[in-house]
Amino acid sequence: MSIDGLLLDMDGVLTVSWEPLSGAVETVARLHARRVPMRVMTNTTSKSRSAIAEELRRSGFEFADDEVLTAAVAASEFLREAYPDARVFLLGDARPEGLDGVHLVALDEDPDVVLVSGADPSFNFETLNGVLRVLLGGASLVAMHRTLTWMTREGECLDAGAYLPGLEQATGQAAAITGKPARAFFDAGLRSLGLPAGRVAMVGDDVVNDVLGAQSAGITGVLVRTGKFREDSLARAGAPPDHVIESVAGVLDLLED
Ligand SMILES: [Mg+2]
Repeated sequence: MSIDGLLLDMDGVLTVSWEPLSGAVETVARLHARRVPMRVMTNTTSKSRSAIAEELRRSGFEFADDEVLTAAVAASEFLREAYPDARVFLLGDARPEGLDGVHLVALDEDPDVVLVSGADPSFNFETLNGVLRVLLGGASLVAMHRTLTWMTREGECLDAGAYLPGLEQATGQAAAITGKPARAFFDAGLRSLGLPAGRVAMVGDDVVNDVLGAQSAGITGVLVRTGKFREDSLARAGAPPDHVIESVAGVLDLLED
């Protein structure tokens, strides 16, 4: 394998609940020492890009702000291009300050677009019903990702992807996805690295959104057995990852090959 650059998922690969996973800080330091270009590609929406980069640096991962690519930044770019001047209702945990150039409004202010971010307590019956009615009234559905679950210190949690199918089926509208596994997001990662897909590997703990998503963009997919990894999700995935490794430290061996 001739891999010259890496796209790294954050949650479940480098950290869980913002705590570094065992060996991850050392692995990233060794990759930096070997001058392997890397970008962190995360569907985490609860913090802005610079806050995520800051949090990673606090944990010992030396990443600059522009080495972190988030689904929220991708969503802002998508909305500015596809829905310029739209009035947007934001559902979920994303920070409004991370959505540059997006005109946010409340649910009762006649939004043109519902933008779904990560699940949090705002995904309640009243709000989801309000979203349903706005969508039935003609608003467009855009989501940062359709991740089903994510791993926290307390255990696995439902994420936005557990709610989206209900909204889609009730309204007959498929959500436009801006984060992983959207092709456009992986392409943005490749552009940022300045490398073609055939020379890049994506490392993630989500077999569908990280690994198979990357593989369909021509990127080498690497699944780690950390974070929310489960044998049964791997068995149900529909296609095999190019590589399965115990933890992110295994990337060092893959680069040797
Ligand atoms: Mg992950």
